[in-house]
Amino acid sequence: MTPSSLKTARQVERIINGIESTDGDGVQLTRVIGSHELPMLDPFLLFDAFESNEAQDYIGGFPSHPHRGFETVTYLLAGRMRHKDSEGREGVIESGGVQWMTAGRGLIHSEMPEQEDGLLSGFQLWVNLPASDKMTAPAYQEFPADKVTLEQHDNGTEIRIIAGQTNAGSIGPVINNYVNPLYIDVSLPAGQVFEQIVPDADNVFVYVIEGELLVGEQSMSIKKHQLAVMHKGNVIQLRAYKNTRFMLASARPLNEPVARGGPFVMNTREEVLQAFKDFDR
Ligand code: FE
Repeated sequence: MTPSSLKTARQVERIINGIESTDGDGVQLTRVIGSHELPMLDPFLLFDAFESNEAQDYIGGFPSHPHRGFETVTYLLAGRMRHKDSEGREGVIESGGVQWMTAGRGLIHSEMPEQEDGLLSGFQLWVNLPASDKMTAPAYQEFPADKVTLEQHDNGTEIRIIAGQTNAGSIGPVINNYVNPLYIDVSLPAGQVFEQIVPDADNVFVYVIEGELLVGEQSMSIKKHQLAVMHKGNVIQLRAYKNTRFMLASARPLNEPVARGGPFVMNTREEVLQAFKDFDR
């Protein structure tokens, strides 16, 4: 074995349970990254999980609001959301679909459920932009379920790749050269092992949607609706204790100062105040 092929499996550093929160116009969600429990995991600024059969939990949606300085990623497991923005762009994200929006210098948009009943479930992830690109032009990368790369293994494992590349070489449709993220949705049958190489320097989290994962020799457990912040290392090795579905995100930290104010994430307080002025908030 040559040194370059040595593997250091990442262990669990912290388990985060998330905080029940309300955002937008009364939408019930669990804030897993972005609350006092875990304010950020550079470059991930926020990770919200929402899942409800009750219209009252989501029907208010997220009426018009601005963003500046980062990217918002909406991935739906079930249901439909309509988005509209101040530049006249509009579309519907459906179950299994993803919208990766580079807010850049900013836009005003709304995100509203396109349904009056039934299950709405999914995630919103905020990914920071480097200082040099915070004022870039807004851009969208939007893909329906059948354009999200699907990798299937003989052991029953299914990997839906939104961004990045798997060990087997499957590549997701979203391109991001700012932090080179990997963002995947993995279904792993009970007893099976999942392995993914990640850059040593990346920050990595695993969020269990359903089931339970075991990590490392001590068999640390990541249970349903828990997020595990992973230690440093160059490979993720996870074993499914039961049939398990999870999200895995990995990206290069920016290591830049972060100044936050509501929907704006900049490098300095002055830049945040300027954003409030520009959007007249
Ligand atoms: Fe938004």
